[in-house]
Amino acid sequence: MNLQQRDEACIWHPYTAQKNNAPIIPIVKGKGTLLYTENNTTYIDAISSWWVTIHGHAHPEIAKRIFEQAQILEQVIFAGFTHKPAIELAERLVKMLPGQMAKIFYSDNGSTATEVAIKMSIQYWWNQGQVQRNKILAFKNGYHGDTFGAMSISDRSVFTIAYRDKLFEVIFIDTPTPANLNELTNFLQNEGEDIAAFIYEPLLQGAGGMKMYETYLLNELLNVAKHQSIVCIADEVLTGFGRTGKFFASDHVYTKPDIMCLSKGLTGGTMALGVTACTKNIHDAFVSDDKMKTFFHGHSFTANPLACTAALASLDLLETVECIQKIGWLAKMNKAFSYDLERLNGIKNVRVLGTILAFEIDTGSDEYLNNISREITAFCLQQGVYLRPLGNTVYIMPPYCITETEYGQVQQTILNWIALNNQ
Ligand code: PMP
Repeated sequence: MNLQQRDEACIWHPYTAQKNNAPIIPIVKGKGTLLYTENNTTYIDAISSWWVTIHGHAHPEIAKRIFEQAQILEQVIFAGFTHKPAIELAERLVKMLPGQMAKIFYSDNGSTATEVAIKMSIQYWWNQGQVQRNKILAFKNGYHGDTFGAMSISDRSVFTIAYRDKLFEVIFIDTPTPANLNELTNFLQNEGEDIAAFIYEPLLQGAGGMKMYETYLLNELLNVAKHQSIVCIADEVLTGFGRTGKFFASDHVYTKPDIMCLSKGLTGGTMALGVTACTKNIHDAFVSDDKMKTFFHGHSFTANPLACTAALASLDLLETVECIQKIGWLAKMNKAFSYDLERLNGIKNVRVLGTILAFEIDTGSDEYLNNISREITAFCLQQGVYLRPLGNTVYIMPPYCITETEYGQVQQTILNWIALNNQ
C-alpha cells in the first residue's frame, strides 16, 4: 500500500468530508514555502499551513534549537516546577506584547488559549464576589476555536450547528461600522454592567471569511467597554507575530486588551503552544489565601519546553531586520496585487491587511460550503500552489520567507483561475 492508501485505512482528517472528499496528499518534506510530495512535486504553501508557518517549513535554526532542547529537558509537569525556556519566553512576551501584560498562562493551542481567557475572565468577577457579572460578549461571524467553550463564544455557524443546544449563551454584536457604532456603544453603556468579558478578533475575522474592519471603530468600542470595566480579550491566535504588518493587531489599536490569546505563529508554526496573557489587575483577583480562588486549569503539555524553545527561536527570527523588512515587503506586494485584482470582473471585496490578501469570487452565494473552494484548490495544486479558500473567499497568507518568484507564481495562478472562469 502506498502512503495515501495507508492513510485512508486508518486516519480521519480535520475539516474533511468523509465521502467524496478531495484526495489527501502525502507530504514527505518541507523547505521554506515549499511542500514536497513523494515524487518531488512541490507546492507553495500560500496559506502557511492553516496560518501557522511564519518563517517557512523546517527552518534549520528552529530545528536546531528544538533538537538541542530535546536532549536537555523535553517535558516536565508545570505545576510545582518551572524551566528556563518557559521563563525566558514569558519574559520576552511580557515585554513585547501590547498593553500592560504581566502574566503568561501557557496551554497548547488556540482553542485552549481562548477557553482559558474566558474562564479566567469569568472567575475574575467570581473571585471578587460579583457572581452575577458573567455575560460574555462576542462578535457575530467571529471564530475562536473548536472546543465547547471556544465554540460557544464563536458565532453560530455550520461549524457549530450540530451542538447548538449544548453551547452556552453569548451576546453577539455586529462588528463596528460607521453606521452602527452609536448603536453598539449605546448598548455597551446600557448593558455593560452585566458583561464579564468581550472577546474579539482584532481587525480581522479569520475563519469567518477573512473579514476586515476598521481600527478606529474597534478602538471606540474598546474604549466604551473599558469604561464599563468589561474585560477585553484580544484573540490574536491568527493576527499575532507580524501577520497584520505589526507584531500584533492590537499594536494598531490605541486601546489595549486586558487579556490576549496567542498560538499559531508563536512557535513559528513548528510546535503546538498556546498562551493567554493577562494584566496584573486580572491576575490580582486570583491572589488570595482562599484556595477556592485558584485558577483550576491546566493541560498535560502546558509550557512544553520544546515548544517554548521553538517559540524563542521563532521570536529571534521575527525580530531580525530582515524579517521585519520582509513583512513590509509582503504587505506592499499584497497591496499592488489587490489593485490588479480590483480591475477584474467576477470577483469582489478585494482587501489587504499586512501579509494577508482576500477577496470573494462572485458566485451569488457567500457560504462556507460552496463547492468552488474545492475547485480552486484542485486547480491551484496543478499549478504548484496550495490555496484553501473559505467557501468563495479566496485568500493568501504566505510564510514571510516567500520569494518574489514564488509570490509571482501564486499571483499568476490566481489570475489564471479567474481568467478561465470569466470566459
Ligand atoms: N482563534 C482564532 C482567531 C483562530 O483563527 C483559531 C484557529 N483558526 C483559533 C482561535 C483556534 O486555534 P486552534 O486551531 O489552534 O485550536
